Amino acid sequence: MALEKLSVVVPCYNEEETIRLFLTESQLVESKMKQGVIFDYIFVNDGSTDKTLEVLRQVSKEFDNVHYLSFSRNFGKEAALLAGLEAADGDFVTVMDVDLQDPPEMLLDMYQKIKEGYDVVGTRRSDRKGEPALRSIFSKLFYKMINSVSDTELLDGTRDFRLMTRQVVANILRLNEVNRFSKGIFSWVGFNVTYLPYENRQRIAGRTTWTFWSLVRYSIDGFVNFSEAPLNLATWAGICSFFLSLFGILFVVIRKITFGGSISGWASLVTIILFIGGLQLLALGIIGKYLAKIFLETKKRPIYIIKEKSQ
Ligand code: UDP
Ligand code: MG
Repeated sequence: MALEKLSVVVPCYNEEETIRLFLTESQLVESKMKQGVIFDYIFVNDGSTDKTLEVLRQVSKEFDNVHYLSFSRNFGKEAALLAGLEAADGDFVTVMDVDLQDPPEMLLDMYQKIKEGYDVVGTRRSDRKGEPALRSIFSKLFYKMINSVSDTELLDGTRDFRLMTRQVVANILRLNEVNRFSKGIFSWVGFNVTYLPYENRQRIAGRTTWTFWSLVRYSIDGFVNFSEAPLNLATWAGICSFFLSLFGILFVVIRKITFGGSISGWASLVTIILFIGGLQLLALGIIGKYLAKIFLETKKRPIYIIKEKSQ
């Protein structure tokens, strides 16, 4: 029987405590997997400042099927995912967090689904247990808003954790944008997708690098990369205030003709000027946001730099 290779891509940023725990857990899953499926690990060290790289050097010596790439600095999870996907050469590829928030034992069911004919098997958290309430509210709001304005569907609670066929990965790699919003890219490529639900888990060790504000920035990126709605909003706000001001002018002219001159009303005038000025700045800000993205894209800088890798 022909062997099938499953590449496991794992981004790591300051994860010295979790790497070994992760490996033990997923090796257990590997032993439960159908005969003929072999795992191949690609850890991507995203410029960690702790002993992550040393741990990776050790485990890659211990196990033949463990490889690593190490960046010259922290490039972010999106860059680490890309580097891993580019290096992966398995018949199937999965991307997983190293903190065991993505349960490796789900791979068994996911593989089953792939065999049933799906091209992508994603995972969805069925709840948000253990997450701050405010964060849940804003996340829900984000998914509601982006789905009403973007053509690319983003399901609430989906994780990056997914199993994909070689063909899907090859197509994901064809999207060579510098501003990578993986949740959107994964969904944009299409194919037959199914999602498996699971209960939210806490990290086993270490800590998350996400703060409330970094999540807010991440959401704005989602909007700017996957919809033109903010630009349309600016245009419509402009059109509305233009027509409103036409009415205003008409009103002032008619009043002047019928009642004669008056110097009252400067307070309301100032308010209106402030309002219009604010709208203009908002619109400029939105345009600037897109322009900045275009600027980054045109520079065509590499998305990551590899300093060291295993044989
Ligand atoms: N990660 C990374 N680069 C970063 C931040 C995070 O490669 O700049 C990795 C991290 O090591 C982990 C995964 O991305 O494997 C998810 O990170 P985290 O657990 O902090 O995010 P959360 O689970 O809270 O969304
Ligand atoms: Mg995590």
